[in-house]
Amino acid sequence: VIRYALACEQGHEFESWFAGSDAYEKQRKRRLVACPSCGSTKIDKLLMAPQVKRTDRQKGAPSAPPASPAPASAEAAGASENTPIAIMSEQEREIRTKLRELRELVTRNADYVGQKFAEEARRMHYGELEHRSIYGEASPEEAKALNEEGIEFHPLPILPDERN
Ligand SMILES: [Zn+2]
Repeated sequence: VIRYALACEQGHEFESWFAGSDAYEKQRKRRLVACPSCGSTKIDKLLMAPQVKRTDRQKGAPSAPPASPAPASAEAAGASENTPIAIMSEQEREIRTKLRELRELVTRNADYVGQKFAEEARRMHYGELEHRSIYGEASPEEAKALNEEGIEFHPLPILPDERN
């Protein structure tokens, strides 16, 4: 005796017992195997369950349903839009507050020079401009160049909720 997990053309899944694989094929071709849900006789095997003799099994033992593809994870969708988050201890929250204060202090007392940061920093370093506090943006290449020229600068702390 063999048990097949079957599905009709409409996708209804069901199981049926046959004397053997030949018997299954014969019955299917003669349209004797019908979907219990819609009566369709266009049937295909989903998978072959392990061949068992009924006497080997505990009667009434539920059989595992046919394996179905895992549904697309909801977490995977839109993962790129996730925001980094964390559960922080008291100490970590204090550091975060200090970072915010530092950032506010710097930005309040310094001139914003935007993309011209590297240029401005370099001119100050070489005495073309009077020294003052500035902040702005620099590409990794610019930051590397400034560093190699010995121009001191500090990355501004960016807090997770301040991403642009
Ligand atoms: Zn059906």
